[in-house]
Amino acid sequence: MSDRVEQDRAFGFETRQLHAGQRPDPNTGARAVPIFQTTSYVFEDPESAAAYFNLQEYGNTYSRIMNPTVAVFEERVANLEGGAGGVAFASGIAAQAAALFTLLQPGDHVVSSSALYGGTVNQFKHLLRKMNVELSWVDPDSPDAWRGAVRENTKAFFGETIGNPGGNVLDIETLASIAHKHQLPLIVDNTFATPYLCRPIEWGADIVVHSATKFIGGHGTSIGGVVVEAGTFDWSNGRFPVVADPSPAYHGLQFHETFGTYGYLMKLRAETLRDLGGALSPFNAFLFLQGLETLSLRMQRHVENAGAVAAFLESHELASNVTYAGLPGSSYRPLVEKYLPGGAGAVFSFDCAGGRQGGQDLIRGVSLWSHLANVGDAKSLIIHPASTTHRQLSDAELAAAGVGPGTVRLSVGTESVDDLLWDLSQGFAFVEKGLTT
Ligand SMILES: *Cc1c(COP(=O)(O)O)cnc(C)c1O
Repeated sequence: MSDRVEQDRAFGFETRQLHAGQRPDPNTGARAVPIFQTTSYVFEDPESAAAYFNLQEYGNTYSRIMNPTVAVFEERVANLEGGAGGVAFASGIAAQAAALFTLLQPGDHVVSSSALYGGTVNQFKHLLRKMNVELSWVDPDSPDAWRGAVRENTKAFFGETIGNPGGNVLDIETLASIAHKHQLPLIVDNTFATPYLCRPIEWGADIVVHSATKFIGGHGTSIGGVVVEAGTFDWSNGRFPVVADPSPAYHGLQFHETFGTYGYLMKLRAETLRDLGGALSPFNAFLFLQGLETLSLRMQRHVENAGAVAAFLESHELASNVTYAGLPGSSYRPLVEKYLPGGAGAVFSFDCAGGRQGGQDLIRGVSLWSHLANVGDAKSLIIHPASTTHRQLSDAELAAAGVGPGTVRLSVGTESVDDLLWDLSQGFAFVEKGLTT
């Protein structure tokens, strides 16, 4: 997009997913985003090198901290989410750790939804505790529970737009207003919705995190993550000396006072990313950009197929408890209509008849659905938690984790939907055989 058109038109999502953050390369005319596979950058002279390192001027120094290919990806996601900017990471887990480390200190406290991706639960339970950060797990559906969990040392609310595995839809606007009343930021993991289906910042969220590994990439080839900040939170409200006060890790720089809207993001990049590492590689940023170009098209198809698969399961006698929030009878219907008018994503679970054996038979019986531990691929994915991720748990422990012995999680892909239903029917035929022998 040239400067001329950019100035007088607010482009639509489908245009921005192709163009935001990039112009054809001025040196070569390359239309695609070039892969700048370089660790470092030649400085023009000692003065500009010093200015870059002092953050007085913005310029490339070293690819652990910034890279031109990665920068296009960061700007594009930030643009699609409606944020001030973004910082990319080598994984979704690294992105959310960095988002939190930038605003937390030992002795702080975080209030989090209890319906989270399993890897996030581990990170919060063990890594944060090791950093002497306390956690309160709350029912994501109860605003009173969030309100009641706030303490003197609370520093953030954390939840997922569409929770795992129950399909809980976060009431973002309500939780943002509770958080803001207590001068706290709301952090939303928007991985399952993507900015095409929901933009949490428009509803008051302050920080959005993503595992780009999932729908943003869509090809199941690359691990990556990104943090986007709205740029509107008042980090100088007295609760966040770690962001507002002179930073000993950056020769006394006051990030919020110096950079205003970009204070948190600058600290996230210049300190947290610098010191934790976990930088996204230029090649993976390139692959995620290929994914972003078709995000809206893929999500429309994911949602369409997920609705058809959920309806099929709901009427199937060997399936029960289908958690897809997009079903007409879902208790999350009002929240879906408000926050996810384009659809409730494509990841949900159901209980297969026959318990552990039934779940395993279903997996054995399907051939098109891939049995693996991932979501958000264009290919349809299936997993039986009781024999994989939750394998070591007893039936009682499974129940406590909200997983039944026959629970099966699906990530519905973009194949011909008739083929997906045909393949599930093959699986159910296996289940049926097991039940009658
Ligand atoms: C996968 C996932 C993560 C972690 O991301 P990685 O890229 O695997 O590190 C975090 N949150 C959600 C909702 C996820 O699905």
